[in-house]
Amino acid sequence: MVRAVVGANWGDEGKGKITDMLGETSDIIVRFQGGSNAGHTIVNDYGKFALHILPSGVFYNHTTSIIGNGVAFSVPALFKEINDLVSRGVPKPKILVSDRAQIVMPYHILFDECEEERLGKKSFGSTKSGIAPFYSDKYSKIGFQVSELFDDEVLKEHIARVCEQKDIILQHMYHKDPIDQEALLQTLHEYRDMVAPYVCDTAAFLQNAVKEGKNILLEGQLGTLKDPDFGIYPMVTSSSTLAAYGAIGAGIPPYEIKDIIAVVKAYSSAVGAGEFVSELHGEEADELRNRGGDGGEFGATTGRPRRVGWLDTVASKYGVRMQSATQVALTVLDVLGYLDEIPVCTAYDIEGEITTEFPVTTKLKKAKPVFTKLPGWKCDIRGIKKYEDLPENCRKYIEFVEKEIGVKITMVSNGPSRSDIIYR
Ligand code: GDP
Repeated sequence: MVRAVVGANWGDEGKGKITDMLGETSDIIVRFQGGSNAGHTIVNDYGKFALHILPSGVFYNHTTSIIGNGVAFSVPALFKEINDLVSRGVPKPKILVSDRAQIVMPYHILFDECEEERLGKKSFGSTKSGIAPFYSDKYSKIGFQVSELFDDEVLKEHIARVCEQKDIILQHMYHKDPIDQEALLQTLHEYRDMVAPYVCDTAAFLQNAVKEGKNILLEGQLGTLKDPDFGIYPMVTSSSTLAAYGAIGAGIPPYEIKDIIAVVKAYSSAVGAGEFVSELHGEEADELRNRGGDGGEFGATTGRPRRVGWLDTVASKYGVRMQSATQVALTVLDVLGYLDEIPVCTAYDIEGEITTEFPVTTKLKKAKPVFTKLPGWKCDIRGIKKYEDLPENCRKYIEFVEKEIGVKITMVSNGPSRSDIIYR
């Protein structure tokens, strides 16, 4: 069976933890989009880890981790992460890399930096991991597939062809030196030697695994609102964050994705720029940010403070629906235990019109939050294992959110570690 764990909002919903948890009953875990720009934080018996490119199932002995064809594959990031894990006592994970995955090139990172610098105040808040230049090149048909690393003729010709174009932009738009083609070839040779043991036709491997009845878990990065089609365009990421894209980014039949777990956080957080209707500022924001997540809401990749706000059920209902979620995991609920009352953004006021439907970006810019206030539970719910044992107001919050977003909340996460989970 194929399951997917995906984000319903802006990312950082706690997908990593849910994937790590579901990894126990999975044979194969696949990253199907995005790159090393987002981070998943995982707390388990080995310690606390921030993963950027490796799927969150790498901590189990029985799982195979796959970097699918849809990923923006940073070779150095992968090997840095593997080395980090192994040096901290985690058994070396079993990894397969798609021969059709494309490679994040050193100049993608350079272009990302140059462009954010050029945009200044109007920048996207990119993590500067080269993701946007990478996907631009992929769809401009000048990207490098992993398979090309193994054909020097092809590689040299491709480098020369790409540099001709890149050098013009580098020199004339960004006033930088042209690309050193010899050094680039050398780097790609190093990449080739690093990835060689892992490369295969992962789509064929996965299709075979589906036939054999293996449990496959697709791990999404970021969330619906960062999807290039359905998100808050243009402040989105460059690859689809939707479960449906799992079929393409991993190369499996779409009808095999039977279970889609959308992760919704009990409040909102976002990194980078873009519309965020229920955002908080000032002291209220600082308090939520410092209490949030596991030791504060600060980016796993960048360390920068995340923007925070109250739960937005307009965005979450839409986020869950566009993921085609079959169930919802509500995470980080324990953090809200300090509040007397908890505001939830349940509608938008767009120039006097009240709506619960998530609008296009031009209208979203004008949206003001309409809050419904729910009573808090004023206690620490960490350690609770049974739904009935949660305080009444806490259960009411969960049931209210479920009604608003319209999909069953089957899991409630009340702490960062694998075991902090309540099944309903
Ligand atoms: P992801 O990108 O969706 O995997 O999310 P992140 O890992 O970036 O952010 C989630 C943060 O919340 C991490 O620091 C997790 O350790 C933490 N976390 C996950 N679930 C819970 C929870 O139920 N309670 C608390 N307090 N922290 C959680």
